[in-house]
This record gives sequence, C-alpha cells and structure tokens, in this order.
Amino acid sequence: GALLEMRNITKVYPNGVVANQNVQFSLQEGEIHAIAGENGAGKSTLMKMMFGMEEPSEGEILLKGKQIKLGNPQEAIALGIGMVHQHFMLVPSFTVAENMVLGMEPRRGVGIHYAEAVRLTEETARKYNLSVNPRAKVEDLSVGMKQKVEILKALLRGAEILILDEPTAVLTPQETEELFRELKLLKQKGHTIVFISHKLKEVKELCDRITILRGGRTEGVFNIADVSEQE
Ligand code: ADP
Ligand code: ADP
Repeated sequence: GALLEMRNITKVYPNGVVANQNVQFSLQEGEIHAIAGENGAGKSTLMKMMFGMEEPSEGEILLKGKQIKLGNPQEAIALGIGMVHQHFMLVPSFTVAENMVLGMEPRRGVGIHYAEAVRLTEETARKYNLSVNPRAKVEDLSVGMKQKVEILKALLRGAEILILDEPTAVLTPQETEELFRELKLLKQKGHTIVFISHKLKEVKELCDRITILRGGRTEGVFNIADVSEQE
C-alpha cells in the first residue's frame, strides 16, 4: 500500500475558492514524487494539507494505511513529515546550530546547550553527507546553504517524508545540481520525497512519478518514463 495517501480531497477556502476538488494523491515509500501544474492549480493547497497548515474540507489522509488528522505542522512533524519551505523558516540572526534545535527544547524553558546543538548539527550533516558550518550565522549563508539547513532541520526531527515547495526557484543551476544529488542520496537512504515544481525538465531529471493538477483537480498520475518529450 501507499506510505501516504490523500483520498477525495476537497478544499474550499473561507472566501469560497475551491482550491482542490476531489484530488487523489498516493505516495509510495522510497519514491520521489512530483506535484506539478500551472499557477493556481492547487499545488500549494495540497502541500499545506500534507503538512497540517490547512485542513481538508472533505476527504481523508492516510499514513501507512491509517487515517490521520493533521491539525498543525507540529502534528505532521511528529508523524515523520518534514517540509522545506520556499521562504525559509529560519532565524537569520541565529547560527545554524541554534536554528537546528529551535523548538526542540526538552521541556519548557530549558534550552539545549550550544555545544550539544553543534554536535547534533555535525552528526546529522555527516549522516546525510551535507556539509554545513554549525557556527555560521544563517544571514551570512547562500540561499543553497540555507536550504540545506532546512533539510537538515527536518531530518533531525525524524522526517521520513520530505516535502519541498518549488525548491529550485531560488537556486543557481549549480546549487540545483547539488540539491538533486542530495535528494537522490536521501532516496537511497530510504526517504520519500514530494517535489513541488512546474519545471518538467527538472521533474524528469529527478522524479519517479508525477501527479499533475489542473484547475484544482487531479489531471493524472504518470511514471516519469512515460511522460512524452514535447510536454
Ligand atoms: P498553486 O500552488 O498551484 O499555485 P494554490 O493552491 O496556491 O495553487 O491556489 C489554488 C487556488 O486557491 C487559487 O485560485 C488561489 O488563489 C486560491 N487560494 C490559495 N490560497 C488561498 C487562501 N488562503 N484563501 C483563498 N484562496 C486561496
Ligand atoms: P506562494 O506562491 O509563495 O505560496 P502566494 O503569493 O501565492 O505565495 O501566497 C501567499 C499566501 O497567500 C499563501 O499563504 C496563500 O495561501 C495565500 N493566498 C494565495 N491566494 C490567495 C487568495 N486568493 N486569497 C487569500 N489568500 C491567498
């Protein structure tokens, strides 16, 4: 069965906009799955429901066959779902290590020692072969490096499923190449990746399958090998 499944998802925003209508999305364990479609197709809305940022108006979400309810991002993180935002959720004036452990305090009012944060950062970076300087300030980092910190943050919190929202929009071609190498490595290590993009060329290079949305509906799900050249 699917690792994550979204069945008959409809999302109506309070202003009456129907952003998703009867959408089907099925994520297999270990795959890199693209969600594509033009602006306004409903990609962000679907992604937000996967991460507890919005709740479906109708339909159900299943994780490993069990129905789940995601009321907020913390609940998604606790279930092993991680998100790399397009606009990074990092504190610019903090160091990488500080950002890595932010919100992970063992109990209210008790922080993680800085040396421990540095150690955790180094350990996670080594495990996933991603090099970052734990003591660098986030505001001094390149965009590609900030993205790496976000990925590591999600991995440190136990993300089995990693959702990336248009991750290449802010990257140089070199940084994009590097990101793809890293994502392929994560896949080898057993992680499952949701890659939101409207660039078919990139999707073909990286992904195993693609779900295409159009006008809030699922237009189709395809194996990348079957997607024709001219599209
Ligand atoms: P995409 O990510 O594919 O561009 P979105 O999910 O952002 O698509 O948008 C789908 C539709 O829902 C669009 O018509 C958009 O304007 C609308 N929409 C998105 N977010 C909201 C919101 N918070 N409130 C009302 N309408 C929204
Ligand atoms: P992005 O493409 O980075 O998601 P947008 O400008 O599309 O940025 O959306 C910014 C925020 O506004 C999002 O949280 C989105 O849900 C919300 N939004 C988008 N379209 C609408 C809309 N028609 N009405 C209300 N909120 C919207």
